[in-house]
Amino acid sequence: MSVMHIMLSLRIVVSNRVGMIVNRNLHNPSRVTSSIASPAKTSEDRDAPIEMENPYTQKKEKCILCKYNIEPDYKNVRLISQFQSRYTGRVYAKHITGLCQAQQEKVEREIHKAQHAGMMGYYTKEAEFVNDPMLFDIDNPFRPHKY
Ligand SMILES: [Zn+2]
Repeated sequence: MSVMHIMLSLRIVVSNRVGMIVNRNLHNPSRVTSSIASPAKTSEDRDAPIEMENPYTQKKEKCILCKYNIEPDYKNVRLISQFQSRYTGRVYAKHITGLCQAQQEKVEREIHKAQHAGMMGYYTKEAEFVNDPMLFDIDNPFRPHKY
């Protein structure tokens, strides 16, 4: 349990105590504590810290292939051509494509396979796929390059 978690629990305990004081004054316990404590709990349990998820955990960002659950395949030349430069035929690196390590490796492997099978050019992008929309902006990479 992290420090943040304990601090949150403490704050909830304090707010429960305030709620109980208010209850004594109003003689209406159900109205004030309905959002804090569940109705099944007894009055003694109200002071106990409750279990809750950390609300400050950040959402995990997913790459575009993981997000839509797309499996790159050497037979799907149209898809893997989107990760190839139209000028040099090179595969764009991870910091430009924004893919995770596993998907980037898969894309590179499938492009290599397709090139060996004669379905894709080494130095050119297939002419019919040149006007396909870009999945990423080459001029604004997801992450700056380390070199
Ligand atoms: Zn991914």
